[in-house]
Amino acid sequence: MKPKNNNNFINKIVKHSILKNPNRVIKTRFPPEPNGYLHIGHAKSICLNNNIANRYKGICNLRFDDTNPRNESTKYTLAIKKDIKWLGFNWYKQPTYTSNYFDQLYQYAIQLIKNKIAYVDELNANDIKKHRGTFKRPGKNSPFRNRTVEENLVLFKKMKNGIFPEGSMCLRAKIDMASPYIILRDPVLYRIIYSKHHHTKNKWCIYPMYDFAHCIVDALEGITHSLCTLEFLDNRKLYEWILKKLNLKKTPPKQYEFSKLNLEYTILSKRKIQKLIDHKLVSGWNDPRLHTLSGLRKKGYTKNSIKTFCKKIGITKQQNLIELSLLESCIRKDLNDSSPRRMAIINPIKLIITNIDHNYIEHLDVPNHPCKKDMGRRKILFSKEIYIEREDFCKKPITGYKGLILGKKVRLKYAYTIRANKIIKNKNNDILCILCTCYLNTKKKNIPLKNTYNIIHWLSKKNSTKTQFKLFDVLFTSKNPEKEKNIIQLYNPNSCIIKIGYTESVVAKEETQYIYQFERVGYFLKLKKKNRHNILVFHRIVSLKNKHRKPIQ
Ligand code: ATP
Ligand code: MG
Repeated sequence: MKPKNNNNFINKIVKHSILKNPNRVIKTRFPPEPNGYLHIGHAKSICLNNNIANRYKGICNLRFDDTNPRNESTKYTLAIKKDIKWLGFNWYKQPTYTSNYFDQLYQYAIQLIKNKIAYVDELNANDIKKHRGTFKRPGKNSPFRNRTVEENLVLFKKMKNGIFPEGSMCLRAKIDMASPYIILRDPVLYRIIYSKHHHTKNKWCIYPMYDFAHCIVDALEGITHSLCTLEFLDNRKLYEWILKKLNLKKTPPKQYEFSKLNLEYTILSKRKIQKLIDHKLVSGWNDPRLHTLSGLRKKGYTKNSIKTFCKKIGITKQQNLIELSLLESCIRKDLNDSSPRRMAIINPIKLIITNIDHNYIEHLDVPNHPCKKDMGRRKILFSKEIYIEREDFCKKPITGYKGLILGKKVRLKYAYTIRANKIIKNKNNDILCILCTCYLNTKKKNIPLKNTYNIIHWLSKKNSTKTQFKLFDVLFTSKNPEKEKNIIQLYNPNSCIIKIGYTESVVAKEETQYIYQFERVGYFLKLKKKNRHNILVFHRIVSLKNKHRKPIQ
């Protein structure tokens, strides 16, 4: 995919508004609900809101949209702040909270009641739904729609004072039960919830709905461009209705919608991620298989790769499913230049070079990066016993096979050509090792170009440290799990495979280096903590090649 021009349609709108009014200070906001951790879809919105503010020397608020105390908590506000900072963004002054405005919002609700355009309804949620109608059928008025202002004021106050049980009453806007926009069929503005709020504690037992609070707080904060995802398109009608009726601003904030990020094989909805956590299919919000920012970070993704990805997908109104390979190409590109090369064998099989001595050790001088001289060189050892990848050995030739075949030759990268002569097995018929001969006159520079064999990576037993590798794969077997009903059934049992193999001994000693490219294998992150058996642990960030994934039907 070609990188999208930075000049997306929202940028054009903002630019136009500046041209019309050069003194206008552009104000955007990123408004997460603190009911989960941020994911890569949020990164798209963070980049958009911050880039617009930065580009036009405006400001971008971080506003916690905390109108539903049931699932919100301080744990999430802290995690959200950490992730935004990690991405390299900040917010204007202090983060704001919708709950900071609860007093004002309550007063605005009273104003609507006094203006005869809001009423306390006693229908329960189910009946409200039934009365709402459908796209084809208009809704029906609630029997409580025509209460007097006084009656409504008393009831609303009683709601606030905790006289009524949850779900028994709500405040609704009085708009039009026959509106072609279902959102305008007397939407609920306030509901009763008896839950301690992470910020306002037990002060309130009535909470404004998102639609009511969001547009008012945007206006109070002076937001000029309220950017949100397409599912809020119709809500804009309500947003405009509320702002107009409350006569809040001369130039009220304007809402613009863009498409949500949907990523192949990935779930981004927080509610669904929570379900995976509850079912113990992932270890938490920062499980490296999730596309939360903390999960990606834990896996080894860099902030630059995520920002490049957001730039590449651009901002449009088209709803499409973005290929996972696009994200993977961004991290590969970012790590290619900065990661030193090392050797690692994930799934080892032993070769014994029969024509060299047990004590033979040769130090081979190899580059740390194929193109970057400044990354220096290092010595690797060559000796009688070496490891190669199990998948780099095959008994019989297969077309297109790139490894070592019994009776044939292969080149060991940076070293010699060898030939596989014999397989040694144990009583159970498992392969113990392969006996090989080494052509000692074929070291690096001496091989004629025409005579090249397949090249494989390897590791001398004398130069290897036992290592655990965590090989992550997609969490779901379906390309678009967000569309499926039962995501639990689509869980990929092979989404984390653990292997014990070897890395070059030097890797264990390097204390400032964490990300490597293991040659022919992929990019890996070294964890700071060893496992409980005191073994070095690596996360595979991404393999070197695109994996062709076939969805399981
Ligand atoms: P979720 O469905 O994951 O719970 P949400 O929209 O309810 O998402 P919020 O915390 O309300 O999550 O989102 C904060 C901001 O991030 C909103 O402006 C929202 O539009 C935006 N956002 C959320 N998910 C995506 C996404 N997948 N792509 C782009 N923007 C997103
Ligand atoms: Mg939300």
